Amino acid sequence: MAQKTQRGRYVIQHHSARSDHYDFRLEINGVLKSWSVPKGPSLNPKEKRLAIPTPDHALNYAKKEGIIPQGKYGAGTVMVWDIGTFSNMKETSLASCYRQGALEVFIRGKKLHGAFALIRTKLGKKDNWLLIKMNDEHASSYKNIVDSEPRSALSDKTMNEIADSGKTIRC
Ligand code: MN
Repeated sequence: MAQKTQRGRYVIQHHSARSDHYDFRLEINGVLKSWSVPKGPSLNPKEKRLAIPTPDHALNYAKKEGIIPQGKYGAGTVMVWDIGTFSNMKETSLASCYRQGALEVFIRGKKLHGAFALIRTKLGKKDNWLLIKMNDEHASSYKNIVDSEPRSALSDKTMNEIADSGKTIRC
């Protein structure tokens, strides 16, 4: 099995559009597979975070930060909240795990570290997933990582500073 299929880029973009959410993205099969996580990630294994699948993004979108202009899909402010790499913790290939709806990945970001699971769950007819911190030394039941680390992992800017920057993202 090719080594490159077992690891890849990881990014979470804080996106303030019609709703405020966190776009969790993993490089699988040459694209950024993407989920919208309304509450953002939790370090607490007991807190399962809803992760709604969203369209694939190109790999170079991982470092995009700025403003999506009015009238465009996702119009609003985008921050690179966390960025790094991840590796597959399972024997099965990432592509198969994704198809099966059961990913277990080890994240090496600037903010998130350690094991996370993404599990597809069929609630009603919708194909939703859950993002869950797995138990390891990086788990925490008290630290709210979203509130305690609000700044960009790339620029150290706040959402307001990015919104005021005037820098637009071309998708
Ligand atoms: Mn989004």
